[in-house]
Amino acid sequence: MSKYLSPKKKKRPNSNRKLLILLAAVLVVLAVLAFAIVRIFDSTLPDSGEDKGNTDSGQTTNPDSGSTGEGNQPDGSGDATGDGGSTQPGGEDTPVPTPADEAEKIAEADYLIRGYYYDEAIALLSGLTSQQAQDKLAEAEALKAGLVKYTGQTYHIFFHSLIIDTDLAFDDKGHPASGYNEWMTTRDEFVKMLPLLLENDFVLYDITWLCEYDETTGKVMKKDIYLPEGKKPLIMSFDDMNYYDYMLTDGFAQRLDVDENGKIVTHVGGTPVKRNGHIVDIKDYEVTYDGDAVPILDAFCEEHPEFSYRGAKGIAALTGYAGAFGWRITDLDWYTEAEQEMILNKVKLIAQTMRDNGWQIANHSYTHNQYWNNKTITMDQLKYDTGRWLNEIMPYVGESHILISPFGVSFKQDDERYRYIVEECGFYIYCPVTASMNTTFYGDNMIQERLNFDGLTMIKYPERIKKHFFDPALILDRERPPMD
Ligand SMILES: [Zn+2]
Repeated sequence: MSKYLSPKKKKRPNSNRKLLILLAAVLVVLAVLAFAIVRIFDSTLPDSGEDKGNTDSGQTTNPDSGSTGEGNQPDGSGDATGDGGSTQPGGEDTPVPTPADEAEKIAEADYLIRGYYYDEAIALLSGLTSQQAQDKLAEAEALKAGLVKYTGQTYHIFFHSLIIDTDLAFDDKGHPASGYNEWMTTRDEFVKMLPLLLENDFVLYDITWLCEYDETTGKVMKKDIYLPEGKKPLIMSFDDMNYYDYMLTDGFAQRLDVDENGKIVTHVGGTPVKRNGHIVDIKDYEVTYDGDAVPILDAFCEEHPEFSYRGAKGIAALTGYAGAFGWRITDLDWYTEAEQEMILNKVKLIAQTMRDNGWQIANHSYTHNQYWNNKTITMDQLKYDTGRWLNEIMPYVGESHILISPFGVSFKQDDERYRYIVEECGFYIYCPVTASMNTTFYGDNMIQERLNFDGLTMIKYPERIKKHFFDPALILDRERPPMD
């Protein structure tokens, strides 16, 4: 029943990001052309206006909204290509850009530069004639030339779903408050730390850019990092982005969704809908843009593109036993056929939207069972656990080679279970938990340790954060109960 990933077939989404950007640009140009043709038909055949007029060119090129639209280029390159295309509809008109066009392109290029998209900015500016455009072009070229090989350590911090209502989380009804106090971070804390990380020259970096996987040999090699002088690569991950039932009344978001503009939103509040003893849905929820880390980080990077190197965001680490992103896709027998299709498509759309916005998705084990924690997991249990994730989660969230271990557990390199994880399942990026945040290459896999940025570390081991980032006392939520 289990078909494991052979380590051969690797087409990682990130290597395709450039291609996606190109594709999006081509689509936009095609859309503009189609629009121009429709307009010509409209003007020559006035009676057909009704029919043709309804074909909104924007929609026909973006059939599944978020995944192909502006979502592709969270940091403005989408706008850049879109508007760039619209100034030359069909190339028949005079190609001389007006001062207004130039000013717009310069502004777009500026935004691209802030997000480290130097080549894209250079392409946008070349051919423009104003002094201002040429200055901006020179700036982009100087910044590109100024990238230096980064030789320091990479930093990896992780969180769980953010507490958005501290009253509910710490009321000790439902799940014990002490657990949330230790292992969770509040929304307030997360929102306050982002500008501090930015000020301290951290820049979000994509974990898959740290290594190169050789398809023929199975080797995993260190890949050089180039950043502006002084910048430090930061990887963020978010464990258990599953919105488990036990959390639904404890002050967290209920699940993720995608809005009509292709942005990730959170469903907050509302009432669980039960059927045959299972919570199968939430009704009367509120749609918000700050119910968990994904929309918060997306919005922060949109406002501060300099916090994200070429669009990189974080890693969503998913288990499988409660579905994904709050949608119970591994309990399909609770649902009608139409509902099954709806929730499976929902997870696909959320995952694709996140990936298009610079997110990675990782396996966090299917079961999150204690047999991982105490490392008694047998080969059969491991095959069952990874098999279910590969067969029931990965087809909907996309191919992944990252395993973020449950309970931060780690194995010896020659442990047969670890060999199975790397060689048979293709998880060649493995992330346990250790405050030192070392990254080590072992021939066919990379291990990157993570620091838990939670209540426990902020309160009991603040020096671990202070040493690299900032004093956690600056952000600690006053609503937290005392910790023994
Ligand atoms: Zn976990």
